Amino acid sequence: RLEIDQITRHFDGRDVVAGVSLSVTPGQVTCLLGPSGCGKSTTLRIVAGVDRQTTGRILVDGVVVSDDGRHAPPEHRGIGLMFQDFALFPHLSVAHNVAFGLDGGLRRHEARVRELLERVDLGGFFDAFPHQLSGGEQQRVALVRALAPRPAIMLMDEPFSGLDNRLRDEIRDRTLALLKEENTAVLLVTHEPDEAMRMADEIALMRAGRIVQQGAPYHVYNTPVDRAAAGFFSDIN
Ligand code: ATP
Ligand code: MG
Repeated sequence: RLEIDQITRHFDGRDVVAGVSLSVTPGQVTCLLGPSGCGKSTTLRIVAGVDRQTTGRILVDGVVVSDDGRHAPPEHRGIGLMFQDFALFPHLSVAHNVAFGLDGGLRRHEARVRELLERVDLGGFFDAFPHQLSGGEQQRVALVRALAPRPAIMLMDEPFSGLDNRLRDEIRDRTLALLKEENTAVLLVTHEPDEAMRMADEIALMRAGRIVQQGAPYHVYNTPVDRAAAGFFSDIN
């Protein structure tokens, strides 16, 4: 369980994140949804531990991993990351990429790596190298690489951008199935309302560093908090 408690982030004289609180429970996908520049990625980077909040706390399973005094490094937070620009290691095979974060590496976890690759229909690419894969295939490898250590919490920042529509829908569905099966608590960042409607159990609508509305997708969609929120959803078909 992930708890974000009153996070702020000050940059150049302004609060880019201005008091965000959120919690994400196992098996649930919470979408942080909002327009470009509203502070979504900054929030996620703080949770990951690659940036640090100005004020506020981050808790994982009730334990503080970051506050005024403490700041656990990313690799000690038990959090998986999948960001759009998280490239595969070009000099490592697909299997070694997936095994990268596993203690004991591929030698010790070959069965798990094979199983994960099969789950995303990439069993035949075990020994291939990243440059031999399409963009969508590489994205599936990045996904199972992030899932391989069984993180209890997964952070995803626009993980499906740059894919064509059909492929994106398919990869979204497969990703969701895997995450549900592993009972992962997911915080997914997107600026696309239709992606949030499709994937989220809960939507947190963000604007100018704050969460302005939060609830089940149909609720947020049907009962917008103001005109700007209604407008933001209006291009969904
Ligand atoms: P997008 O949907 O375009 O990815 P976002 O919601 O993820 O947008 P952020 O990347 O969190 O937005 O950025 C929020 C604001 O914080 C932006 O105005 C950005 O310029 C500013 N910002 C982010 N990082 C820094 C930094 N290191 N120094 C100064 N300003 C920053
Ligand atoms: Mg962003």
